Parts: sequence; structure tokens; C-alpha cells
Amino acid sequence: MEFSIKSGSPEKQRSACVVVGVFEPRKLTLPAELLDKAANNYISDIVRRGDMEGKSGTTLLLHNVPGTLSDRILLVGLGKEKDFREKEFSGAIRTAVKTLNETGAFDATIFLTELAVRKRSVAWRVRQTVIIAQDATYKFDLFKSKKDDVRRPLRKLTLGVERRNELAQAEEALAQGLAIAEGVALAKTLGNLPANICHPTYLAEQAVALAGEFKLDCEILEQAEMEKLGMHALLAVAKGSHQPPKLIVLNYKGARASEKRIVLVGKGVTFDTGGISLKPAADMDEMKYDMCGAASVLGTLQAVARMALPINLTIIVPATENMPGGSATRPGDIVASMSGQTIEILNTDAEGRLILCDALTYAERFEPDTVIDVATLTGACVVALGEVATGLFSNRDGLARELLDAGDRIDKLRAEYRAGVSPKRTAEIVQEATRLNARTQAQVVSKIGVLQLYLDELHADADKYKTFARQNDIALDLGNEAEV
Ligand code: MN
Ligand code: ZN
Repeated sequence: MEFSIKSGSPEKQRSACVVVGVFEPRKLTLPAELLDKAANNYISDIVRRGDMEGKSGTTLLLHNVPGTLSDRILLVGLGKEKDFREKEFSGAIRTAVKTLNETGAFDATIFLTELAVRKRSVAWRVRQTVIIAQDATYKFDLFKSKKDDVRRPLRKLTLGVERRNELAQAEEALAQGLAIAEGVALAKTLGNLPANICHPTYLAEQAVALAGEFKLDCEILEQAEMEKLGMHALLAVAKGSHQPPKLIVLNYKGARASEKRIVLVGKGVTFDTGGISLKPAADMDEMKYDMCGAASVLGTLQAVARMALPINLTIIVPATENMPGGSATRPGDIVASMSGQTIEILNTDAEGRLILCDALTYAERFEPDTVIDVATLTGACVVALGEVATGLFSNRDGLARELLDAGDRIDKLRAEYRAGVSPKRTAEIVQEATRLNARTQAQVVSKIGVLQLYLDELHADADKYKTFARQNDIALDLGNEAEV
């Protein structure tokens, strides 16, 4: 999709569609008011009749509105103005882009970017809009012979900014948004590719391609070099596979050599069968995603290089398959890691820590200021946190805080747990949580959500709570909240 920035009045836009917001209840935003004035109250009449309350997630498409120059006007519900924050802004953009993609409009001018978001600049709003628009229209249909093409997809999106003096920073933010969206798309595509295509050699090829495009130092360590370095923990994981393992290193220099270096390590298990400690067959296809750490750091590097950020960044990807086979590592085998410490491998499915320990030891040679490891490390994380949150472990509180700030989902954690458990549906959710027990995943998040709810309503319905706790094997002292 093409993007551009414009500062101008909505009623003067010659566009296939102009997008403006409506707050709940029935409150037009400034751009909507300007359109309404030009249209002689056409829009406010419609809103007054109750066709657009302004609830978030709702839209209303109007055609040939008098007094305006565009073919269509799309009204987007924004929810209550006092609750309008980052999440609501992002949701409104996503709704708008998805709706636009289904109308006949090839191009649109969106004025939602003019909405004030607390503590966020116009640059943030523009950047976020580009990232969300690209994300909302991302498709992975590489292997479909018959692509389900959108009839008339949105091709061009113009982002409105209120003042002319905001144009320069908005243009810069647009370029950043495109770079980030491109990195996100790369990570998604690498994740989506099946393991027979996206194997360690393929990941290495992607790294070489990035190095070529952005003039980066690239180093791919082959098995023989890893043996010389003593990376027997990593190699132990690769032993059952016919795919040769690779240790991928990419160096981006955006600052002086004396400047501190950030190292990102990404787990690249391109398929994890569990090895001799074989995983159950159900959902094993999803183990192609066990390289999403690698995909994330490759995508990050691409975005950083595209933006030419003034930092020094190294990414390290230990890439391998984890397969069973005659030469595979057995439970009980003892290997020496690159650090010299010996490891008794009890379960070959706990392979992430084996490849990452050698990669982290290797990272030492770059004398990094900061090391961030991104990995699908353990199913226990999903058991503990469910599917709404990402686990973050750190031995540096300052860094942890920065990472938390960077992730705009993580601070919404509590709200999302609760959102999945509405008081009215209590009975159903108890059942659901019990059923999920059989599948052993995600029940903990349900438990946390339900438990929070139960704690809130403990005195109101203690019997129901006891039944739930019994069914779900939860030992809880009813009188003591601290134990949850
Ligand atoms: Mn595993
Ligand atoms: Zn794994």
C-alpha cells in the first residue's frame, strides 16, 4: 500500500473515501464536524437518528454526501472520548483499514490521525497508523494456487495531520512506520513458512540477503566451526537432523565503533519434534513456529537498518532442527557447552536452552552492553500466562522497564485477563476452564481471570468459587487473597 501525508480540510478532499471519527455517544470529532457543516448537517442528522452511536468497532459508510468532494465518507466509532487511549486509537485504525479494504475505494484520506492520544505525539499516531494498516492487510497466500483476492483492495492511504508545521515530523514517522511494518512482515512470513522450506539454511540465506541489501557484516558458522568452538550443546540438538545447523551472525553499525553494542539473540529451531523425547502428534505442525525468536530478531534488524538508526546492533541466531533419529541425542546424554560446563540432557524437548546457552556464550565476544534473547522457550510460559501476554525475564530492572514500555500490550495485561471473563458469563467460563484442562494449555489464564473475578465476588458467591477451585485442582485459602 502507498502512504502519504496531507494537511487540509476533510470537506475539500478529492478522494474515494474520507474517514472521520465519532465519539460515543454521538459526538462528532472536529473533522467530522467540518464535513457536517459543509454538508448542511447531513451527518449530524444521520447520527441523531441513531445510525451511529460511536461505539468502538462500529462503522457507517455514507455515499455522495452533499457539499463534499469525495465519493464516500466512512464514520468510525471511537468509544467514549475520556477512555480514548493508545489501544482505542489502534483499534479504530484497524477497523477503518479493514472496512476500507472491503469497500470499492482504491484510495482514502484518513483523519483519525488527527485525534489526540494522551502522551502520544503526531509522529506516534502516524507511525502506528502505517504499521497497523500494513498489518491489517497482511496476507500469507504464497502456497495457494487460487488466491482469494480482495475485489478492489485499498491501494493508497493519505494520512491527515492538523497543522502544516507537523508535516515534516509526520513524513519522518511515515518512513519509520514503513520500515517497522516491513520488519514485522518479514518476521511473520518467516514464521508462516513451513519447515521444509524455512530450515536453518534458508534462515542463513535470508541473513545473507539482508547483509547484501544493507551492507552488513554477516557471518554464518557451519557445523565444523561450531565444533571447533566447542558448541556441543547446540550441536547436540542438531544431531538427529539431516539439515545442517547454522549459527547466523549479522552486524549493523549505525554508530561509532566505541558506542555500546546491543545483541539480540533469537531462537531458530526451524522444527521442534521434541527429538527422542517426542512431542504428542496433536498440533505438532505448529512447531514450525519454534523459530519465531529468529524471525523477530531478523525483522528487527531489517527495520533498524532501513531506518538507519544511530546504534550498533548484532543479531545472533542459532538455527537447527530438533529431530529424532539414529544419531539423535538421547535423554541422559552428557555434553559440554561452549562455556565449558557440562550438561546432562534429561529431556531432548528442552532444546531451546541448549542452543541458546552456546549462542549467549558466543555473544560475549561482542562485549555487548545489552543482550536481549527472544525465544519460544517453553510451553510453560503459555501455561503460566495464557495467550494474551508475553513472559519477560530480566536481571536488569532498568532494561526490563524499557522493554515493558516498548510493548504496549503488556501493561494492559490485567485488563485483558479480566476482559475474557465477564461476570455474566461466570458459569460458562468455569466449564470452559475445566474442558481446557484436558488440553493442558491456556487453562491457567482462564484460572487467573476467573480467580480474580471470584476474589472480587468471593463473599457474594463462595459456594460457586469452592466448586470451581475443586474442579480445577486449585488449593486456595478462601480467606487469604495473598496466596493467589
Ligand atoms: Mn522443545
Ligand atoms: Zn523448542
